[in-house]
Amino acid sequence: MGDPLVDRRYLIPFRSPLLPQIFTDVLVVGGGVAGLRAALEVRDRGGDAIVLAKAPLEVSSTAWAQGGIAAAIDPDDTAEAHAVDTLEVGCGLNDPAAVHLMTEAGPAEIDALRRFGMRLDEADDGAIDLAREGGHRRRRIVHTDGAATGRELVRVLRERVALGARKSGGSIRIFEHCFAIDLLSSARGDGRVLGAITHHPRHGLQLIWAKATVIASGGLGQVFRETTNPRVATGDGIAMAWRAGASVADLEFVQFHPTVLYVAGAARALLSEAVRGEGAWLVDRDGRRFMQDAHPMAELAPRDVVSRTIAATLARTGESHVWLDLRPIGAARFAQRFPGLDALVRSFGLDPASDPVPVHPAAHYTIGGVRCDLHGRTDLPGLFACGEAGASGVHGANRLASNSLLEGLVFGGRAGAAALEEEAAPPERIIADVAMSHRAELDVSDVRSSLRSAVWRNAGIVRTGSRLDDLLDMLDFWGRYSLDKIFDDTEGWELQNQISNATLLAKASRWRRESRGTHAREDFPESRGEFATRACWRRDREAPEMFGATTEASAETASSESPA
Ligand SMILES: Cc1cc2nc3c(=O)[nH]c(=O)nc-3n(C[C@H](O)[C@H](O)[C@H](O)COP(=O)(O)OP(=O)(O)OC[C@H]3O[C@@H](n4cnc5c(N)ncnc54)[C@H](O)[C@@H]3O)c2cc1C
Repeated sequence: MGDPLVDRRYLIPFRSPLLPQIFTDVLVVGGGVAGLRAALEVRDRGGDAIVLAKAPLEVSSTAWAQGGIAAAIDPDDTAEAHAVDTLEVGCGLNDPAAVHLMTEAGPAEIDALRRFGMRLDEADDGAIDLAREGGHRRRRIVHTDGAATGRELVRVLRERVALGARKSGGSIRIFEHCFAIDLLSSARGDGRVLGAITHHPRHGLQLIWAKATVIASGGLGQVFRETTNPRVATGDGIAMAWRAGASVADLEFVQFHPTVLYVAGAARALLSEAVRGEGAWLVDRDGRRFMQDAHPMAELAPRDVVSRTIAATLARTGESHVWLDLRPIGAARFAQRFPGLDALVRSFGLDPASDPVPVHPAAHYTIGGVRCDLHGRTDLPGLFACGEAGASGVHGANRLASNSLLEGLVFGGRAGAAALEEEAAPPERIIADVAMSHRAELDVSDVRSSLRSAVWRNAGIVRTGSRLDDLLDMLDFWGRYSLDKIFDDTEGWELQNQISNATLLAKASRWRRESRGTHAREDFPESRGEFATRACWRRDREAPEMFGATTEASAETASSESPA
């Protein structure tokens, strides 16, 4: 029997001449910050873009983002200092060129957002109020309404799209509730991507042909039972790029956010890092601060350090959570600085003036994704990637807080510009045959919830080779009767994407026999020189390809346990 993860090219059978056809210059899969920024760039340069979002634009990680956007805009700050902090947290695996490019472009992106009408919180003297978050040595995070930055960012980008092109003659069409199932591959043998096959509840299956396709579909956080990510974060773009033959990289690196509200029945709402930046303490059940012993930056240590220290504290105390003590901030200041979080905490009967808030780590950010260069180019012609779905190397082995919205803005724009430069390729006749499965019916939501629990248990904050092996066995078993099915709804396609992504994540985590950045192996607790390299995986290759190696010396000093 073959391996369905490798053998399956398309999730559904179709015959291209029989389906409705739509044409555009650039097809953007994803309507978060990266996708919208890419589309705006295409339009500003006179091109036509279609943006697909499988849900309304207001349901995305971008819309949910809280703390803000990092950029060196303070007169005492510099792009170089921002780059140094980013590189230090990235534990030797960042692409330095990507880092410098992003930190240098940061202030101009913030200026552009302000020109577009984005409201940013201001200090009493009228200057932009800059917050500080874990791993940053300076206050450099711009934010809106305390911790509602993402909502304002989506509002502004959506308005900008609606304004239309004044001079360029370009256009943007946004298709909400439109699900990209698979990328269309040319039969000419060079792997060129020609667009995508999509499903819309009203219009059914459609083919969208484009001279370039940009994957901006966000991360895969929903593969974990505990996650801060919205329901849409099923990593569809990563899985469909893999099926089309693109390389995926760095998938072992998933950032766990340390402070997620842990109240039975509550959504896993994030208590932004900025709350610790304002002075909140992490305490155990005896009210004792435990981060001071773990790291010189205490509560503001990099997220991987805080998450692991919480996991160790829980193992020691046998509790299910620790507490965030807001009293050092003061209830009045907390309510003024974080009105949304104040309302959230109070809605569970907790009083910030007296009650520490129960918190627990959860999967937060997908560092890996579709391997791409500084222009978003992947190793398939016609295919680009940006934002959380891409792996440009900007974050290395760990992402510095609030760098991802900036990444979406900077690399989304660059991917849009490069995509528009692609040569047009004519549509082709594509016949996709998928053999009918004769296996039993499937309870998709049951498999999905087993999968999410298993990934959380076996590939969560601290990993071991044997637990990863167990996970791979489970995934292989589920894959045998899930990946051979032909589904006709998004739930089924998402499950198939999640099984693929979980398998890739587990394989990459098992391969990396060291601890570095967000990837912690109990059986290999140190960083190791031979793994001071990135690795990418492709459908047509058994073993990973290593690239972007750093020097052993810098890997040593970049151990995530060193002060950041
Ligand atoms: C709760 C929370 C708080 C955060 N706070 C911050 C912060 O303060 N600062 C910061 O820098 N980062 C923050 N992050 C991370 C940051 O928000 C994300 O990394 C970033 O917004 C990702 O943007 P994106 O455009 O790549 O993807 P997303 O914003 O996730 O957008 C993905 C888009 O792809 C679409 N899509 C997915 N699959 C398909 C498909 N098959 N077909 C069609 N469309 C599809 C979705 O509908 C959506 O429109 C936070 C994340 C979360 C979850």
